[in-house]
Amino acid sequence: MNVYPNIFSNNPLDRVSYLRSNPDWIKKTIAKEDTVFTPFWRGKPFVSTISGLVSGNSSPDQQSPAWFPLSFFEDKIIGSSMVIFLGLLNNKAYFSIDISKISDPDNEVGLKDLGIFEDLMVLSSQAIDPGELAILGQAKAIFEWHNSHKFCSRCGSESSLSEAGYKRICGACNSEHFPRTDPVVIMLATYNDGAFLGRQKRFPPGMYSALAGFIEHGESIEEAVARELNEEAGISTKKVSYHSSQPWAFPFSLMIGCIAEANSENFKLDEIEIDEGRWFSRSELKKAIEGNNSNFFVPPSMAIAHHLIKNFVNSK
Ligand SMILES: [Zn+2]
Repeated sequence: MNVYPNIFSNNPLDRVSYLRSNPDWIKKTIAKEDTVFTPFWRGKPFVSTISGLVSGNSSPDQQSPAWFPLSFFEDKIIGSSMVIFLGLLNNKAYFSIDISKISDPDNEVGLKDLGIFEDLMVLSSQAIDPGELAILGQAKAIFEWHNSHKFCSRCGSESSLSEAGYKRICGACNSEHFPRTDPVVIMLATYNDGAFLGRQKRFPPGMYSALAGFIEHGESIEEAVARELNEEAGISTKKVSYHSSQPWAFPFSLMIGCIAEANSENFKLDEIEIDEGRWFSRSELKKAIEGNNSNFFVPPSMAIAHHLIKNFVNSK
């Protein structure tokens, strides 16, 4: 399948959901000699440049995910960690291990001098193999979900990880809880030769981006796009079309990228949500995409907003 190359998409692993729900298969797979584990610590993946630890898919001087055999980790480390199954590639199994309960992973786990724990957002703008970046995004989102859903939402008891990370079960009331993905619409409003960008107060000075917001219950993607544009910028939407999507592990969203054709250039900003916003011409945006505009800039290519803007620039 041809998937638009947004960063964090195009994960090469086969998740074999029909196998991972079988505890015997997981146990057997964990014990296989060629099975590998990549560590996470407090939200950050462990990356390295040591050739025996990395896949070699990224350039040699690029920090990329380090993969260890189970034997690298002492039993007490494994016992205090969360182990999740990621998938299979060429019959080899890939897992991730969250060692966040260890206070000093360099010395207690023996990772010193082998690499570093790096922020995934920082890694996403580097020259890592896109498939491996997608795998790290998958692992981070699952860990984020477990770490924020430790207790049963039905009875309040502590729940436990099941099915290699794809479920939590409450031992007290037997209810099952499944990993959650929060859908977000991100849309570029267009009218004739212009597109609308806004900036939130938290953005770096000079940066403008496509508007975005969470989809609410009982709402279609198109309705969420029209509502958000109306609420945030007073823009009336004529037609919505889908562009592409991006898994976004901060903490566990799916960005759904759309183009929204507006009825007119009229707009009125919600000043609480949006600091500044205006229509930009195609030529202004072309310069910004190329990094040649001194007045403002747009998000880098790791963000889906960049691709929505680029699509608009190239559509004429
Ligand atoms: Zn419960």
